[in-house]
Amino acid sequence: MLNQRCVQLGKVRSVIRELFEYGNARKAEIGEDKVFDFSLGNPSVPPPAELEEAMLGLIKNSDPVNLYGYTSAQGAPGVRRAVAEYINTNFGNHVTENDIYMTCGAAAAITITLCALCNEGDEVITFVPCFPEYSVFAAQAGAQLIKVKTCDGTFDIDVAAFRSALTPKTKAVIINSPNNPSGVVYPESSIRALCDVLREHSAKLGSPVYLISDEPYRELVYGGEEVPYVMNYYKNSIVCYSFSKSLSVPGERIGYIAVSSEAEDRGNVYAAVCGAGRSLGYVCAPSLMQQVCAKLIGKTSDISAYERNRDVLCSALTSYGFGVVKPQGAFYLFLKSPEPDANAFAERAKKHELLLVPGDDFGAEGYVRIAYCVSPDMIERSLPAFRALAEEYKK
Ligand code: PLP
Repeated sequence: MLNQRCVQLGKVRSVIRELFEYGNARKAEIGEDKVFDFSLGNPSVPPPAELEEAMLGLIKNSDPVNLYGYTSAQGAPGVRRAVAEYINTNFGNHVTENDIYMTCGAAAAITITLCALCNEGDEVITFVPCFPEYSVFAAQAGAQLIKVKTCDGTFDIDVAAFRSALTPKTKAVIINSPNNPSGVVYPESSIRALCDVLREHSAKLGSPVYLISDEPYRELVYGGEEVPYVMNYYKNSIVCYSFSKSLSVPGERIGYIAVSSEAEDRGNVYAAVCGAGRSLGYVCAPSLMQQVCAKLIGKTSDISAYERNRDVLCSALTSYGFGVVKPQGAFYLFLKSPEPDANAFAERAKKHELLLVPGDDFGAEGYVRIAYCVSPDMIERSLPAFRALAEEYKK
């Protein structure tokens, strides 16, 4: 018999993907410009010009056998050194290339990290709303994902709720800030409070509870918002970074894992990361992209376009009477459904050709997610549809 869990996972598409496919079919039917597809977090701004230059330079000037060959399983040493140097220079840490593992994006980074840390039956806590794939990644590691509520209205970490979710089985906590889908950036005070509770619980257990920071949106922040770097607040922390959104290269699959230089038994934690990568077959991330990212590390595509989209959308939706939490980062906006059932609201939105993802999949009922990483033109064209949708609820 086939592995039924995998059969099930392969058959049931995510709600986001379903909506995206629906949007493509609908565009073919009524025209590309008539459908307002806010379903997918696919960056709409091109990568920075330096990306193409770096790629072409590498292709023209490198020994192809080297460039396209296998790197070390954990990534090319020079690339890992560049990543470590970047982290140390920008966040004041002391990691080395032997704390860095190159991956195919954040998805692989989180899967590897959970497999490295968890034993069968362990629990991994995260805060809702959250990226739906965490449940899949945790299950793959034999762990159970425990979803903890956040503060009403702000989606900030609810420390009391977090504390009461801790058990002897808690092995790790995943945070994602700037957050998909709420766009919230957890303030430093919340990170400090979270880390205090983690230290307390680790001491009680006599073994570390790890803090995993999922960071595909680190640079996508607006209005000078600061995103605290977890290694500076908690020694047993692991950063899962992705270049997908910062460089607009999600299809090229590149990111990394960074184990804190202060982590207890640091060498074995990194060994477990390497072992998990090996057992999952996640070795030797794409070689060309490793080299490209080493050259571009710290650069981003023009994220000001997202900030403009956010501002236009937030003020228009608020003026139509919708409730929104103004996002401080990422490129998602969580909109409060004017009726209790967000699925019914999303269906109604579809009648206006607005494709919005119901929040249930993210663990937050009564909201829909709007991915505003689209063209400014589409935002403008979609506003009459949002206004008409709002009017329906005023009748
Ligand atoms: N984590 C979060 C919160 C995300 O939003 C995404 C992608 O949208 C991922 C992880 C996976 O990113 P990657 O493309 O780097 O695998």
